Amino acid sequence: MIPPLDLRAATDELREELEEVFGRFLDSGRYVLGAEVSTFESEYAAFCEADHCVGVSSGLDALHLALRAIGVGPGDEVIVASNTYIATWLAVTHTGATVIPVEPDPVTHNLDPSRIGQRLTAQTKAVLATNLYGLPIDYDRIRQITKAAGLWFLVDNAQANGAVYRGQPVGGLADLECHSFYPTKNLGALGEAGAVTTSDGALAERIQMLRNYGSRRRYHHELAGFNCRLDELQAGILRVKLRFIEEWNVRRRRIAELYREQLQTARNIILPVEPAWGRSAWHLYVVRVPERDRVCAAMEQQDVGCLVHYPTPPHRSEAYADCFRHAENLPIADALADSVLSLPMGPHLSAADARTVADKLRSTVDNITQTLNHENTRRQDAA
Ligand SMILES: *Cc1c(COP(=O)(O)O)cnc(C)c1O
Repeated sequence: MIPPLDLRAATDELREELEEVFGRFLDSGRYVLGAEVSTFESEYAAFCEADHCVGVSSGLDALHLALRAIGVGPGDEVIVASNTYIATWLAVTHTGATVIPVEPDPVTHNLDPSRIGQRLTAQTKAVLATNLYGLPIDYDRIRQITKAAGLWFLVDNAQANGAVYRGQPVGGLADLECHSFYPTKNLGALGEAGAVTTSDGALAERIQMLRNYGSRRRYHHELAGFNCRLDELQAGILRVKLRFIEEWNVRRRRIAELYREQLQTARNIILPVEPAWGRSAWHLYVVRVPERDRVCAAMEQQDVGCLVHYPTPPHRSEAYADCFRHAENLPIADALADSVLSLPMGPHLSAADARTVADKLRSTVDNITQTLNHENTRRQDAA
């Protein structure tokens, strides 16, 4: 079986260094928000070329606290992509503000800047755009819009650790950028972790307070905060992994290039693109195919584990059934959800396995589309 992502192989490659971190952690006598966390924060801020980094307990917490830090709350509207992971929407909902979905560009899968203008109202407070599947959004275009309209510009960077926009690393380009270090992400902890990066010192300080019961000094609570602290063990593990992310992203890029070579002449398979301004972190390799569910099942039968990110767009999920009772018209998100397929991807996928995946995908899609054409012809003949 070729798995969608081999996490165990990643851990094995770094086993000695991780065991050393664990020993240091046991010996330290300090388990939450200590020296490992603050050192990781400095190292990760430097990696993003941002002035500040605040470690938190997950990607969702990073998004939620970033929105709280800029004062988003009931009555406010926040623009998000219609095809992002539901966490982006939930963070807005948890503040009491309203989610305003904007459709993506179906080629890049990222929020389409040209559609933002028509959704702006007097209540709009921020644009929160996602670097989906590892590909950076068009930062310059979105910044132009948010600047002109006096809005905050936030980024959900859960999937694009190590991506590059016009020569600069993502993470330091918007007002606040939110990261997840969930184990499956490009920079993955061995548990839950996340961070917010920013070059605004006052906002960083607010997030530091919000993650720790609204407190700067012990038992002195200036804000009604939360418990979203990062622990020392995860921070130590992330410090090890941060030293490998660039090399591991290069390996991901090689797999992406191999898939492109093998599949660019295949019929009925739409491959992901990388616009001139952005270097993807290749978190996922997402193609579009007809009859996606049949293709996915057939790949599974041939021992290739594909995934779907995501089969149900947030506006169709039960969690949002009340807000979108009239199934708001988001045809691009719907069409993408019906056709996207994530091929196995990761720094530990071998070139031989990637070739096997590409071969099987090509023949599977050919077989299924041929069967479909036969069925259609027969139906037309019968009619
Ligand atoms: C993973 C992810 C999140 C949430 O991160 P957690 O650490 O699981 O809370 C948010 N947004 C996107 C786009 C993600 O992929």
